[in-house]
Amino acid sequence: ADAFLNKVALVTGGASGIGKAVAVALAAQGAAVSVADLRKDAAQDVVEEITGAGGTAVAVEVDVSDPAQVKNAVDQTVSAFGKLDLALNNAGISGPTGLLGDYDDSDGFAAYKKLIGINLDSVYFGMRYEIPAMLAAGGGAIVNTSSILGVVGEPTATPYTTAKHGVAGMTKAAGAGYAAQGIRINSVHPGYIETPLLANMDRDAYNGLVAKHPIGRLGTVEEVANMVLFLLSDTSTFINGAQFVVDGGYTAV
Ligand code: NAD
Repeated sequence: ADAFLNKVALVTGGASGIGKAVAVALAAQGAAVSVADLRKDAAQDVVEEITGAGGTAVAVEVDVSDPAQVKNAVDQTVSAFGKLDLALNNAGISGPTGLLGDYDDSDGFAAYKKLIGINLDSVYFGMRYEIPAMLAAGGGAIVNTSSILGVVGEPTATPYTTAKHGVAGMTKAAGAGYAAQGIRINSVHPGYIETPLLANMDRDAYNGLVAKHPIGRLGTVEEVANMVLFLLSDTSTFINGAQFVVDGGYTAV
């Protein structure tokens, strides 16, 4: 229960979903957690949940598509807890849908750039500022949240597929680049995860999503968090620059 004792972790998109599950699980195992999110109030709610359970956490407001704000989030984490050991670069949004040739030249391009900013540039900015802080702490571990769409393509989600493949590539390059200096960097690739958003989804569309997963159901945020915690922990010390699907078999067929 104390695998992350004396560790300091930054989790972006920590106010909801996968990020929240990771923040709560890390804190339950002893880490001091910086819950960084665009929605400061929701991040503060997660902090209260963590502190209510006896853990240590702080809420940080950040727009991950803005490098100055990402730098500030790292700085605030270090000033709150003295160092940075672990990070999950996870904040993200779902992108515009439709086939590439049909995207509008103004709105569609703007949506593409926004998606790339939040889902891909964010990971670059995150690592840019997390890595120096981790080097100062003597090493660390980073996980970047990609997707099954960082492994296979989705014809109706070209921007999202592009961003998530970019996250995987960036992870390989950075993971190899910092392996010798004691920073491990890997990506997690979830299949479709059960979230409140999907609860309101049209039944046929939901069943169609389920059918793409050989396991016959969608995943849970805890099932993704289990993989992230493994990759952030000292049980994965020979793993670097690698991609881990958590997808009930989605990419196996
Ligand atoms: P979520 O919507 O539950 O949580 C995402 C969080 O990110 C929210 O709290 C939101 O406020 C925050 N956020 C959004 N834009 C931000 C910004 N610009 N700056 C800072 N924070 C911002 O979503 P989730 O399902 O937990 O998704 C987390 C990650 O997992 C995303 O990168 C997503 O692409 C990826 N993912 C999700 C699924 C899935 O099925 N849910 C599958 C594969 C990958």
